[in-house]
Amino acid sequence: MSNPLRILIVGAGIGGLTTASALARIGAHVDVIDDKPEISVAGVGFGLRINGLRAVREIGLLDDVLEIGHPAPGIDNYDADGTLLSTMSYGTRDEGLPGCVTMSRMAFLEMAARHALANGATFHMSTTVADIAQDADRATVTFSTGAGADYDLVLGFDGLNSQIRREYFGEKYAPRPVGGVAWRAGLPNRRKIMQPIICQGYGGKIMLTPLSEDTMYMVLTVAEEGRPRYDASKMAEIMHDRAASLTRGSAFLADALDDVRHAENVAYTPYSTVWVPYPWFRGRIMILGDAAHTMTPYLGSGAAMSIEDGVVLAQELAKDQSLLDAQLEFMKRRLPRVRAVHERSIESMLEEFDSVTDETYRARIDHLRHDEPIANEYANRLLRMPY
Ligand SMILES: Cc1cc2nc3c(=O)[nH]c(=O)nc-3n(C[C@H](O)[C@H](O)[C@H](O)COP(=O)(O)OP(=O)(O)OC[C@H]3O[C@@H](n4cnc5c(N)ncnc54)[C@H](O)[C@@H]3O)c2cc1C
Repeated sequence: MSNPLRILIVGAGIGGLTTASALARIGAHVDVIDDKPEISVAGVGFGLRINGLRAVREIGLLDDVLEIGHPAPGIDNYDADGTLLSTMSYGTRDEGLPGCVTMSRMAFLEMAARHALANGATFHMSTTVADIAQDADRATVTFSTGAGADYDLVLGFDGLNSQIRREYFGEKYAPRPVGGVAWRAGLPNRRKIMQPIICQGYGGKIMLTPLSEDTMYMVLTVAEEGRPRYDASKMAEIMHDRAASLTRGSAFLADALDDVRHAENVAYTPYSTVWVPYPWFRGRIMILGDAAHTMTPYLGSGAAMSIEDGVVLAQELAKDQSLLDAQLEFMKRRLPRVRAVHERSIESMLEEFDSVTDETYRARIDHLRHDEPIANEYANRLLRMPY
C-alpha cells in the first residue's frame, strides 16, 4: 500500500462524510465524490443511538452532534386513542452518552462535511465513477468529468441504489421491497414533546420525534405494496389521509395531523433492504453503509452502522497489516454485528404491520404494553455491544 494511503469515497452521505474524517485522521489522502451538485438529503431528521454516538465520538464529532442535536431518553408508546402503553428506554447512559440524540439530517451532513474538509479530505461534487481498472498495485479511476486518478482503495458509500454495487458486485444484490413505506414531514412542535412518541395505529404507526423545542418530524410507517408515483402537489394531503386512517379519526394527534396538511417537505420512501453476503470487497473496491446493508429504520441504526463501518475500517487500515488482512479483519468484525441488527430491523417492522384488524390490533397493543419493553431492551444490548 502507498504511504499515505490514497482512498476514494463515492458518496457524500452520512457514511461517506464521517468515513472521510475517520480515514483522514489516520493520515490517508481522501477524495470524496458525489453525483449531486451539492450536499442534500431527503427526509428531515434522524437519531443516533449509543452505537452511532460512540462512533462519532471516536472521530471527534461528538461535541458538534450534541450541539446540533436534541437528547432523547426514551420513547413513549401510545395506542390510537392516546392511552400510554409503555415507555421504552434507549438504554443506560453508557459512558456518559445520552441514549439517543435526534437531529436535523441537513445539519448533520453540513457538520460532517466541515469536519472532513478540516481533516484534509477534498470534495468533487457533480462527479461519479465512469470506470475502475484494478491491478495488484492500484485502482485507476476514470471520473464522469473525464479526469482520472490512482487509489489504493475505492469505497462505495453510494447508498441504497449503489452504482458501485451494481457494476462491481452484480445486479443480483439489487434492493428488495419489504412491503412498508415511510411518509416523512417536518412539523412545528406544538406539544413541546421532549422525547419521541409512537402512536400504534391500525396497520402501522405514527412517530413524532422532537428536533428542538419548536420543531419535530413525523414519520408514518404503513404496509403499502408496489411503488406508486404520487403527484407532488398532493403528497401532504395523502400523508394526512394515511395518518387519519391509521388512527381511525381519533382526536389523539389531531393537531399534528392538521399540520401535515400544510407541510411543504413531505418525503415518501418505500422501504427496501439490501444484504450483500460476505465479502463486501472485490479487490480494491469495497461497498459499505447502505450500499452493502440497507436495513429498515426500526432500530434507528442504518446511519449508525454506516458510521461504524468507516470507523472500524480506519482502525484496521491503521494497523501494520496488508490491505487484504485489513479487509478480512474488517469483515470479521462487521458481518455478524450488522447482520444481527439488519435482521432485527426487518422483524420489528413486520410485527408492527400485523395490526390491521380489530383482533390483531388488540394483540399488538397487548404486545406493546407487556413484551415490547423487553424486546427493546434486547435491541439496546445488541446496539451497545462493542463494534
Ligand atoms: C424513514 C427513515 C428513517 C431513518 N432513521 C434513521 C435513524 O433514526 N437512525 C439511523 O441510524 N438511521 C436511520 N435511517 C437510515 C439512514 O438514513 C441510512 O442508513 C443512512 O443514510 C445510510 O448512509 P449512507 O452514507 O450509507 O448512504 P446515504 O446517506 O444514502 O448516502 C449516499 C450518498 O451517495 C450519493 N450517491 C448515490 N449514487 C451515487 C453515484 N452513482 N455516484 C456518486 N455519488 C452517489 C448520494 O447522493 C448520497 O449523498 C433512516 C432511513 C429512513 C428511510
